[in-house]
Amino acid sequence: MIRKILIANRGEIAVRVIRACAEMGIRSVAIYADSDRYSLHVKKADEAYSLGADPVTGYLNIHRIVNLALETGCDAIHPGYGFLSENARFAAVCEQRGVTYIGPSAEVIRRMGDKTEARKAMVTAGIPVTPGTNENLKDLDEALQMAEQVGYPVMLKATSGGGGRGIRRCDSADDLRRNYDRVISEATKAFGSAEVFMEKCIVNPIHIELQILADSHGNCIHLYERDCSIQRRNQKLIEIAPSPQLDEAQRQYLGGLSVIAAKSVGYRGAGTVEFLQDESGRFYFMEMNTRVQVEHTISEAITGVDIVEEQIRIAAGLPLKFRQDQIQHRGYAIQFRVNAEDPKNDFLPSFGRISRYYAPGGPGVRTDTAIYTGYTIPPYYDSMIAKVIVWALTWDDVINRGQRALDDMVVHGIRTTKPYYQEILKHPEFRAAHFNTSFVENHPELTKYSDKRNKEDLAAALAVAIAAHAGL
Ligand code: ADP
Ligand code: ADP
Ligand code: MG
Repeated sequence: MIRKILIANRGEIAVRVIRACAEMGIRSVAIYADSDRYSLHVKKADEAYSLGADPVTGYLNIHRIVNLALETGCDAIHPGYGFLSENARFAAVCEQRGVTYIGPSAEVIRRMGDKTEARKAMVTAGIPVTPGTNENLKDLDEALQMAEQVGYPVMLKATSGGGGRGIRRCDSADDLRRNYDRVISEATKAFGSAEVFMEKCIVNPIHIELQILADSHGNCIHLYERDCSIQRRNQKLIEIAPSPQLDEAQRQYLGGLSVIAAKSVGYRGAGTVEFLQDESGRFYFMEMNTRVQVEHTISEAITGVDIVEEQIRIAAGLPLKFRQDQIQHRGYAIQFRVNAEDPKNDFLPSFGRISRYYAPGGPGVRTDTAIYTGYTIPPYYDSMIAKVIVWALTWDDVINRGQRALDDMVVHGIRTTKPYYQEILKHPEFRAAHFNTSFVENHPELTKYSDKRNKEDLAAALAVAIAAHAGL
């Protein structure tokens, strides 16, 4: 069994893993950049070690991290998401140095991290993939030629892309000429690879992804799907499980397909198979993520399975706790990614000190975060500061619970996307469970809400009004 785990990450996901460790009787070791000295993951772990002054490079320093794990007597490393979580070399170095990497083999991470290779593997396994190029593009001429075959609009995509970056829609040959070098330079900067490929642009698609779990004994199950269609610039904002836009037959079909996909590449651990559904209802494989996802929480909410615990058990060589026929989905769960951004100002990042924080609670509410009153949001990382997850038996109830939970939540001192999500929850198309990845772009009016909305602000405004009336 695994006795001690180093968590090679920060923020809410580090806290999430530390919590799983605590429940499993496993010691946890945090690592931190000096600017993160006052972060929650540092306080919550059993031990914590500095990575030095640079806010980012420490979290990416493979040899430093593996050495630290060995020096502190850790059996395993959990990579979280982001940072080194999809870095095949990191997994390989762990394997070589005798530290268990909590995730799939280095070879599977490498293959699935290369979107062109992943597409090929899925074609071989008989999974329908988004129409597009079989190989990476050689140059612009070839791109123009392929686009004629695929048919505009097309998507130009970075082969090693992630986090919604390195993707551009091109509606015409001119568009493609304009974007080609841009995507290559974006990909080179963000992912250290200039490789790009092309897919047919699925117009107004629904993003559906399946959570899967596979152990080292040949067992592989899925935990049903998540609908991540509420996105801005290809980045997820709100996720829902199961999708209120699918029926049970579609759900079973995609579940089966995802298990075939995972088995065909010898998958081990927790992972996600992402699909797009086009307007005619057809599904296409898009990519596979070989790590725990930000939105794993909603699959936990509808199935009761602790995905991080399963990850650790699988890495320890244990069989899955559940068979497929023991996995039921119950009710609906929604996750809101509360970002430190100002929706009224084109989602400009909003950093600074949180002067007051109150986590939403009550029935069916879970908050995963690393912030607290007095914490200062550093400008170096992702802008997501909290995940609010709500669960209820019906779609109507989970929307009402989401409203109530977001109302409950207090984050003062910075701007967040919370009030924007409250506008989305009120929208009739959202309430009718009818939305696709264009929803955010099609509804710019939802950023035009009134600022005076939370109770404290109202109370303060009232106090001023009373004072004014009394002539004070
Ligand atoms: P999920 O699919 O789990 O929602 P995201 O795509 O939102 O994951 O990515 C989770 C985090 O990991 C984000 O902080 C994102 O910026 C980061 N990330 C994802 N892929 C990469 C990558 N290839 N390189 C660098 N960072 C990445
Ligand atoms: P990442 O690795 O950054 O998550 P994905 O390949 O998963 O990249 O795509 C991210 C998002 O971009 C999708 O959820 C979808 O909204 C959009 N997208 C990607 N490929 C296509 C496509 N072929 N047609 C339409 N939208 C797409
Ligand atoms: Mg994706």
